[in-house]
Amino acid sequence: MPELPEVEVVRAGLERYVVGATISAVQVLHPRPVRRHPTGSTGFAASLAGRRIAGARRRGKYLWLPLAPLDTGPGDALMAHLGMSGQLLVQRPDAPYERHLRVRLVLEGSAQGRELRFVDQRMFGGLWVSPGGAELPAEIGHIARDPLDPLFDAAEFVRRVRRSSSGIKRILLTQTVVSGIGNIYADEALWRARLHGERPGNRLTPTQVRELLDHVRDVMTDALAQGGTSFDALYVNVNGESGYFDRSLHAYGREDEPCERCGTPMRRVPFMNRSSYFCPRCQPVPRRRARRTAPD
Ligand SMILES: [Zn+2]
Repeated sequence: MPELPEVEVVRAGLERYVVGATISAVQVLHPRPVRRHPTGSTGFAASLAGRRIAGARRRGKYLWLPLAPLDTGPGDALMAHLGMSGQLLVQRPDAPYERHLRVRLVLEGSAQGRELRFVDQRMFGGLWVSPGGAELPAEIGHIARDPLDPLFDAAEFVRRVRRSSSGIKRILLTQTVVSGIGNIYADEALWRARLHGERPGNRLTPTQVRELLDHVRDVMTDALAQGGTSFDALYVNVNGESGYFDRSLHAYGREDEPCERCGTPMRRVPFMNRSSYFCPRCQPVPRRRARRTAPD
């Protein structure tokens, strides 16, 4: 599943290759990826034809392309979510169709001779148009900024974590507190911070939370630096197999392998229908707070 750094790589590629282009034609090859568009495939295609792409933006794992306004009102937005297996590819129109090609957007203007293709094997992702959504689409207005966003409010994040009695990993995955941190990056950041995911937020110090946030940013920045290389050849690609996953994971997927810091075998435990990986020595399981036997 694409995590935030991969989605940011896609956003940067869209910014470079399709902003300024006009969508001249739309072909929907399978209706499911446009199921979130209320008027279906035909309406989706009609609402995009002739529109100019004015930007490439992202919040968490949601991407949107603001469209130049048709009149004086706010512009609409073409929304994209990659789901489990989605890809956005910038291709030449004569490139052979990908096996799971679902939607083609033919481009002209600055991107003459290119098309934007949505390829998705499992089709949990999709495309749709958000009316008036150019600035911030209403359907994602509740999603918090992510730690790579220049306007992310670190002080507010620290306050919110420390008000919560939930486990810190669960808080990291709460999209209304902070967006874009998936299971893998949460485990990596917690390992670097030497924190067990079940440590309650309200029992962490402000310094611990700030250091954890720094680790989250480091993990994502490292992944971004490595993911960015796939982009040079006019090819916007996202999948769960980016090089980062092979080379740089210290915690995720390393059950029974030695902790790279202390050599203790890593543990795996079930977590929200997935798994959590941690070092039982560097990241000790929190003890339950001892019940006081006498008032202070
Ligand atoms: Zn360890």
